[in-house]
Amino acid sequence: MNTKLGPGISRRRFLVSTGMATSALLARRHLLAQDEGLVQTARKTAAAATVTVQKLRGNLSVLMGAGGNIAVLPGRDGKLLIDAGFAGARPKITSALTSIGSDPIKQLINTHWHFDHTDGNEWLHSEGALILAHTNTRKRLSNTTRVEGWNFTFPPSPPGAIPAEIFDDERTVKLNGTTIALKHYAPAHTDSDISVHFTDADIFHVGDTFWNGYYPFIDYSTGGSIDGMIRATQANVAKVTDTMIVIPGHGAVGDKSQLVFYRDLLVGTREKVAALKRQGKSLDEIVAAKPTAATDAKWGNGFRSPKDFIGDVFQGV
Ligand SMILES: [Zn+2]
Repeated sequence: MNTKLGPGISRRRFLVSTGMATSALLARRHLLAQDEGLVQTARKTAAAATVTVQKLRGNLSVLMGAGGNIAVLPGRDGKLLIDAGFAGARPKITSALTSIGSDPIKQLINTHWHFDHTDGNEWLHSEGALILAHTNTRKRLSNTTRVEGWNFTFPPSPPGAIPAEIFDDERTVKLNGTTIALKHYAPAHTDSDISVHFTDADIFHVGDTFWNGYYPFIDYSTGGSIDGMIRATQANVAKVTDTMIVIPGHGAVGDKSQLVFYRDLLVGTREKVAALKRQGKSLDEIVAAKPTAATDAKWGNGFRSPKDFIGDVFQGV
């Protein structure tokens, strides 16, 4: 079962992990209706986001704070974006993109279908972006989709937000003089997750299969599971090298050591929760046993609390 804290706490946690926990936002929370959920609040407050630009290498940058992490590759063929962030962050994203260069926006790749990665699809398409994603991203965005973990039902997205190009397993994109390799994961965080490897710069965007410093959300409603997350993380660890730069869906840009730590965290938590569940312990009893005590202070302050994370693991073991 999915355990949730009160909606106010969940909302705050989500906003912290997406960089929107400004004092203005906290003040605004008092104006919001009590029954509004995380999704509506995240969208409404996106305009207050602080969007930062971090230069990586090989001309690549990452925009942080507008939802999921957005990678940007400018160049003579126009800008390529990996993920679209929240629609309400459009002004902040636009100025961040302008600070990177004057090339027009030409291509957008979604790492998966979730709204904090695709909410901006429509405006980016209106600016000229061709949208490419996995088949299941198009399927989820084209249909009414319920996410129990967010207590929210998404209506079909407008036509401009739907990816015009899709792929099933792998795809290679040549753009701006470089090669970008896309690969679908077996169902992990959702059933639509892909990785994006900028092979020349050796930068690897792994979407929400990796949350660096925050407990992850696992979307069981659209194909996710703890075992799928572990398999995806094993695949990421098998691919990463000592010099590779790893962009997570949420949290700071990372490297091999952080990816290995995260893999061990998922595997260790799964083992502990599964053992306690086999003993007949209830979810509340397992939460009280604090199986994630060593990381709670650091990792439990984002979108998912320790209790949320343990609940997501409990559901799949
Ligand atoms: Zn996600």
